[in-house]
Amino acid sequence: MDYQPKSLPIITYGHPTLRVKCERVTEFNEELARFAADMFRTLHDNDGVGLAASQVDRRIQLLVVGVPQKDTEELLHIVVINPEILETRGSWDYEEGCLSVPELRDVVTRPEWIKLKYQDLSGKEHVLEADKLLARVLQHEIDHLNGVLFVDHLSVVRRALMNGKLKQLERENAKVCM
Ligand SMILES: [Zn+2]
Repeated sequence: MDYQPKSLPIITYGHPTLRVKCERVTEFNEELARFAADMFRTLHDNDGVGLAASQVDRRIQLLVVGVPQKDTEELLHIVVINPEILETRGSWDYEEGCLSVPELRDVVTRPEWIKLKYQDLSGKEHVLEADKLLARVLQHEIDHLNGVLFVDHLSVVRRALMNGKLKQLERENAKVCM
């Protein structure tokens, strides 16, 4: 593909797009492939391991992951479109952060293993079994496509500790929108 991917601006807490349920992708065309390339560029420019389309203000069910593989140094890159979690197992506590909720991190409990159905850029369907970090990132990004943020998983007490910072992010967003 003869295309120079560009880095897209990431929206943050308080932006309305982070709270919508994204639309299913129905057209698997060149524009979608270019957008996925932009998503990978954005992911790497921000040192992320996963990014959902809603985080760059695009309301479609597409996410990208770039996580270290278990046995090698290489990153595993996947474009995941119209994901659907078919099965989950186990439970795992792990500290999460989010490019859209800068500076805040906390431990979130999620299933350790998932079985996922999704489509690739050509529309072909795949079933993927993932555990540990890959399963974690996929669940975090799928949440984004449903308007859910990691802070929503925290207890009332943990959330209250973050409230000051979250309110500040909301105010900053309000300024940008004016
Ligand atoms: Zn996130």
